[in-house]
Amino acid sequence: AQKQRVGVFGLTQPAVYSVDNEEQTGASLEFVVPRDLADGFVNNKRECYKFRFQKVFDQAVKQEEIFENIAKPVADSVLAGYNGTIFAYGQTGSGKTFTVTGGAERYSDRGIIPRTLSYLFERFSQDSSMVYNTHISYLEIYNEMGYDLLDSRHEASRLEDLPKVMIMEDPDQNIHLRNLSLQPSANEEEALNLLFLGDTNRMIAETPMNQASTRSHCVFTVHLCRREPGSATLRRSKLHLVDLAGSDRVSKTGLNGQLLTEAKYINLSLHYLEQVIIALSEKNRSHIPYRNSMLTSVLRDSLGGNCMTTMIATMAVDKRNLDESISTCRFAQRVALIKNEAILNEELDPALQIARLKREIQSLKEELAMLTGEQRDDQLTVEEIQKLEELVKTFLDDRDPDVTLSLGPDMRKIQYCFSLLRVMYLHALEDIFSSGCYASSLK
Ligand code: ADP
Ligand code: MG
Repeated sequence: AQKQRVGVFGLTQPAVYSVDNEEQTGASLEFVVPRDLADGFVNNKRECYKFRFQKVFDQAVKQEEIFENIAKPVADSVLAGYNGTIFAYGQTGSGKTFTVTGGAERYSDRGIIPRTLSYLFERFSQDSSMVYNTHISYLEIYNEMGYDLLDSRHEASRLEDLPKVMIMEDPDQNIHLRNLSLQPSANEEEALNLLFLGDTNRMIAETPMNQASTRSHCVFTVHLCRREPGSATLRRSKLHLVDLAGSDRVSKTGLNGQLLTEAKYINLSLHYLEQVIIALSEKNRSHIPYRNSMLTSVLRDSLGGNCMTTMIATMAVDKRNLDESISTCRFAQRVALIKNEAILNEELDPALQIARLKREIQSLKEELAMLTGEQRDDQLTVEEIQKLEELVKTFLDDRDPDVTLSLGPDMRKIQYCFSLLRVMYLHALEDIFSSGCYASSLK
């Protein structure tokens, strides 16, 4: 197990601030409150506010750089078998969705999710010593209710039409999300299609009345399973990429009626998130109020649990938003106090273990028979040859890296299969040369 602090990064849009990225232990962001604003300001005695971050970026930063600095290290630990979480926190319009998902206008604007998916699948293809298996889920939490964004069965028109997701807790206090679909994705394209489906559902479900994108939390999760061929141990890890609801405060939004209730709800669930964070940063605190909201239940492992967690604080730092930016920084400083304990999620798969032991027994039986039994020297029958050809074909077609060709203790059969494989190999070579593929691949 390894303990580390939750990483906190700041991302700002232009205004009244200064950044020092050259400090030894990280970076600092300093706000100077102009005199005309200081009156009536929260904590109005102070004019200068300084906050520490691992790194501070301004809005001209390239998405590529955000990915390299923030997401790649988390993706690497997920590849190694640890859980990882990246969440974006900040007021509406400060760039959370732009950072997490990306902008639609330019390819270079794509955000952390699509870049991370590309990176993961690229790494899978480079690592042929492991078998990787990927599933994706995409959850939207709105007014304490979860919705499955990857539902493709019907065209949803409202959020309420999407499948509702429930939280279940098992006797070991593990959280399960009932009704949240886990979609398999075999390659980058399939994964990006799922992201696209989820984002489309997210957009369709949004109406001016519910403004879901500012009032809901979206949790995109990559579920990874990795194993070495022939081994019965698995490593499972989860990567949550989270676009939180706007952290705007109710008093400022000046809404009424229905919309006010909803605004309070966002604050309520971010308020519970903050409660959990405060509890985690206090020493000797035994009870952490995870169960107060759906968001904190879903993120339970990410906050002070078994996870490598990174927070991105987004800020729109113009004069009007100074108080919001300062409260975003305060939240980030509390998050930075949390200590997480990431452990390697390794487990033994009983089914794989049984399959492995069966193969071992089979091969030991054959070895034994070979040592003790009598070798036959009559010819193979037509039926036997046909059977062998089928076995070889199944053996070659099977994509399971653990596949074996079991022929029993009969040297005639073993030799026949070897010569069959040799003929097939020579034929395949001939095909490559005659089709010109080989020549063109040499160019
Ligand atoms: P949020 O999700 O926090 O409410 P958005 O990500 O939707 O905010 O950003 C608000 C607007 O600002 C969007 O039009 C977005 O494209 C734009 N934007 C945010 N960050 C950047 C950036 N770094 N560069 C260019 N445009 C940005
Ligand atoms: Mg948004």
